[in-house]
Amino acid sequence: MAAAAYDAAHHHPDADTRKQNQSFYEFMVPLVKGYSTEMSLEVTSAAVQVHGGMGFIEETGVAQYYRDAKILTIYEGTTAIQANDLVGRKTSRDGGQTARAIAAQIQDTEADLNKNGSADALAVARRLQGARLAFLEVVAFVADQTRASPNAVFAGSVPYLMLAGNLMAGWQLARAWLVAQEQLAQGVDEAFMRAKLVTARFYADHLLTRAPGLRDAILDGADSVTGLALESF
Ligand SMILES: Cc1cc2nc3c(=O)[nH]c(=O)nc-3n(C[C@H](O)[C@H](O)[C@H](O)COP(=O)(O)OP(=O)(O)OC[C@H]3O[C@@H](n4cnc5c(N)ncnc54)[C@H](O)[C@@H]3O)c2cc1C
Repeated sequence: MAAAAYDAAHHHPDADTRKQNQSFYEFMVPLVKGYSTEMSLEVTSAAVQVHGGMGFIEETGVAQYYRDAKILTIYEGTTAIQANDLVGRKTSRDGGQTARAIAAQIQDTEADLNKNGSADALAVARRLQGARLAFLEVVAFVADQTRASPNAVFAGSVPYLMLAGNLMAGWQLARAWLVAQEQLAQGVDEAFMRAKLVTARFYADHLLTRAPGLRDAILDGADSVTGLALESF
């Protein structure tokens, strides 16, 4: 989606559409770099765990993926630097306007899911809504407080990056759910489409549910980030 927005930002015939796509793309860059790379560590760590002791030693090859994944969060500029970019240039600078425009698109996807009305669609829509509302609370905090209380906002910059990335990934899976449902109804590639539906539901149940906790950490957690005296280190 970020790559498609980049193309539209450069090649769409309409100037306003080019501008909107440019803002969308720029907002997505720290999420693509930061959230995806942090999640690659979580995924490869789980892969080692699944293989147990044989995963930790070299025979299965999975430990190599884990080690390779660790550099991804460093050599694209580090997660904290991507998070600083998300707070400063991508959210605070336009007063949260781009973030809110993306949230409105997510709300449209929720409406499509609710219209479908199946138990799975309603479950995914409910979790997407919970994550979107958590995101909007944090966007308001970042947009309003970055100048007045920079330490309070930047203390939560990485959790904000993870919340926003989590929401965007859940949104894309929800869109995939809607497409897979249609394809399944037409009898296209049944096993693949069913896997898409289950994956989207799993993500909604087990990962989108992290968003409200991240919101609480960002809105209420700054004091304990900066609480230790320098001499304590
Ligand atoms: C294998 C490898 C390949 C690389 N390839 C390239 C390449 O092709 N091109 C290229 O340009 N660079 C490359 N790099 C360099 C890479 O871009 C830097 O390592 C990276 O930007 C981090 O900088 P640093 O190592 O100086 O860490 P530092 O900037 O010293 O950061 C150390 C820690 O402090 C945190 N930190 C630093 N500043 C802040 C801040 N203001 N707020 C909050 N936290 C902060 C960081 O997040 C990090 O956790 C490569 C590095 C490696 C290891």
